Amino acid sequence: MSELPLLPVTAVGSYPKPAYLLEARRKYLRRQIDKETLTELERRATREWIQIQEELGMDILVDGEQYRGDMVAYFADELAGFAIAGMVRSYGNRYYPKPVVVGPVGRKAPVTVEWFRYAQSLTAKPVKGMLTGPYTIAEWSFNEHYPTRRDLVLELARAVHDEVVDLERAGAAFIQIDEPAIHTRPQEDFELAVEAMEIVTRGTSAYTVSHICYGDVPKIYPAMLRLAVNQLDLALKNEEFALLETFRTAPFTKDIGLGVVDAHSHRVESVDEVAEGIRKTLRVIPAGQVHVSPDCGLKTRTVDETVGKLRAMVEAARLVRSELSETQERGNVRVRG
Ligand SMILES: [Zn+2]
Repeated sequence: MSELPLLPVTAVGSYPKPAYLLEARRKYLRRQIDKETLTELERRATREWIQIQEELGMDILVDGEQYRGDMVAYFADELAGFAIAGMVRSYGNRYYPKPVVVGPVGRKAPVTVEWFRYAQSLTAKPVKGMLTGPYTIAEWSFNEHYPTRRDLVLELARAVHDEVVDLERAGAAFIQIDEPAIHTRPQEDFELAVEAMEIVTRGTSAYTVSHICYGDVPKIYPAMLRLAVNQLDLALKNEEFALLETFRTAPFTKDIGLGVVDAHSHRVESVDEVAEGIRKTLRVIPAGQVHVSPDCGLKTRTVDETVGKLRAMVEAARLVRSELSETQERGNVRVRG
């Protein structure tokens, strides 16, 4: 695998599903097609997204999660100990299937490894392994089995750790553990989330990322820098980089996955706009620590919007990279002179 450039460009995880796959998922639920037919179309959509990312010139690719519905229900379905309670309302008008823990949780078999292997087989670029973290799985489930939530979170952490080990064995050099629920109860629970992440990433030599989107990040900063991962991937664009003020209060000691395009807006950002967001960030966090990323998964955007946003990210990263090397060259001339 080739070395990463400065300001490597990546994505958070999900991409929209093409129309033929949405149709196939509906048919599968009505039992009009079998699992193999659905899987074949999920593989086709994965191939298409890998090809799009390669053509755009992204640096660390994702499989686009074409085989997933919800990020928690997907893992709950695959792990032992869960049942599905039906649809629960989250913020706004979003409904999601909320899992119930009804017995001891654990892996029956590797969950994501086959999809990782498949996506990685399609490209020479690194593909990120993509997992949902134990705190978020526990927070978005009902617990009817464990005496405390702590017991549940730590048991889930061990299951997710096993998946990390298997992904690394399968060749994953980058592994992301999504924890969007981490700031739900920062006072009571942040230490628990830290302890859980230590279990998840213990002993791995893969480069680890945790995606934490939206919510009250200032409330968990700088404590969040204690999470046992190399990179925190965060949404900056949706609040126009207001978080940079928070990061000025204490040095950002990890790498950052810098959200530079709004995952919830139809508008495709211009290259200049994205480049300006990166430049602003480099006044607070050194370029060597910055990966360029969307704010969140892009599954709710259209395919065209997604490609437009990814392209703006790639071109903006190129632009800022060339500005940085010009500045450096001028610096060198000055030193030599
Ligand atoms: Zn997110």
